[in-house]
Amino acid sequence: MRDWAKRTILNSGVLRLAAGLRGPSAAILMYHSVLPDPSLRVDSLGGIVHSESAFRAQMELVAREFRPISLDQAVQQVCGGGALSKRYVVITFDDGYADNYEVAMPVLDQVGIPATFYVTVDCVENRRLPWPSRLRFAFRNTKRSVWTDPLAKIWPLNHPDEREQAFLTSCDMCCRLSGAAQETFIKRAEQELETGIPSESGFLMMSYDQLRALSRHGHTVGSHTMTHPNMAYLMEDEARHELAESKRKLELCLEAPIRHFSYPCPALSPHWSAKTVEQSRAVGYETGVTTDSGLTRRGDNPLCWKRIRPTKTVEGLRWNLESAFAGRAV
Ligand SMILES: [Zn+2]
Repeated sequence: MRDWAKRTILNSGVLRLAAGLRGPSAAILMYHSVLPDPSLRVDSLGGIVHSESAFRAQMELVAREFRPISLDQAVQQVCGGGALSKRYVVITFDDGYADNYEVAMPVLDQVGIPATFYVTVDCVENRRLPWPSRLRFAFRNTKRSVWTDPLAKIWPLNHPDEREQAFLTSCDMCCRLSGAAQETFIKRAEQELETGIPSESGFLMMSYDQLRALSRHGHTVGSHTMTHPNMAYLMEDEARHELAESKRKLELCLEAPIRHFSYPCPALSPHWSAKTVEQSRAVGYETGVTTDSGLTRRGDNPLCWKRIRPTKTVEGLRWNLESAFAGRAV
């Protein structure tokens, strides 16, 4: 739909009227990275970065026109039995980038929005980017003309489209791996492509000190696994380790219970299953969020809540939220 048409619909109030007819719900927004200039990190982070100015405008919109609440408040409101506002918004971040603390938190604190930060624990401990960023960087920067995958198939790398295809194939393979097997896969690719780890890798992830500071500022820290695999494709014991070990390590760091989990969605579908939901419950999580798109409604299982991917502009986000609350697919 064209922008002028969206503006006309938004200004007419028809979406708010439709929202008033629908049941209690919350919109959980999924961010990753916020930087003054997103173009500087395209080779590693790809398209997951919001500009600082757009993020600030989006948070001011949420504070002004919606009801921002913390994830714990969402549990109380959505799972509780009381009367509900229909315009709750929860802000979440995946992966654990240092800019979450350095750039996003000051904005959130200024407008008074409590957010939740889901952290990939291995990346925090070892100060290195999640593996999809390392592979993207390797395939975009290699000077090699071919890549031989682990099944001995040869992929040409002469054209950007060929590089992208090889990168996506490598992601389909790597997302099934966790822990040491995953690291071996990535190192092998980095060696064959003769690229190595991006130089900024060491300072792009949050530290444990920064996680503690987020918590002191009233924000919530949750787990995004140890090594960012597709949980639905792991063996049962590997999935349990990703859930339990990340929880244990974050609890040691923060000296507080870790009750919230976020499913990585690096490649392949689905990225969660009834089995992983049961495992996350058994390990002790109270909520789990996915990247499936939609509102969270009363009656939904809190261990596989949906989220909404915010567009990169403030008007886009207004359209996202008003449409979602009015019952349109987003
Ligand atoms: Zn992630």
